[in-house]
Amino acid sequence: MPRLPILWPEGGPTFTYKGGCHCKKICFEFEHPDIYSMPALECNCSICTSRGYIHVYTPQDKFKLTKGTDDDLTTYTFASHLVQHRFCATCGSGIGVAIPCQGFVSINARTLDGIELGRLQKILANGQNLTLSTPERWDEAMSSIHASSTSS
Ligand SMILES: [Zn+2]
Repeated sequence: MPRLPILWPEGGPTFTYKGGCHCKKICFEFEHPDIYSMPALECNCSICTSRGYIHVYTPQDKFKLTKGTDDDLTTYTFASHLVQHRFCATCGSGIGVAIPCQGFVSINARTLDGIELGRLQKILANGQNLTLSTPERWDEAMSSIHASSTSS
């Protein structure tokens, strides 16, 4: 059971969203209830800041590559190596992250087709103060993000 950083209603209708990297060697699609009404996370940790991610989330099995393969993606990990930062090996676009121990992926909203970034419900995640060294610490961190995204 994926544990996403945002509340993700199970069983309801979903839309298919499409995106890809700049050179279009990588194209993907995923299912999501509504990226404009659910929170999108901007995280202030070092890697998210440097890559300019705006995270929207979906369970791992609702994301698939429609063009290119995992071989076209380069994966960067550091520290605990639990988070796989994925980017196009050719053009460098960061399409998002995979977190296998939590069963979900994030998609960088900046790589979606036809996105209106101004309509996203952006919230700030204080990732620089989270310790994500083990799957258990991830659970704690997800809980704290849940709390901050529902209290506003
Ligand atoms: Zn590319």
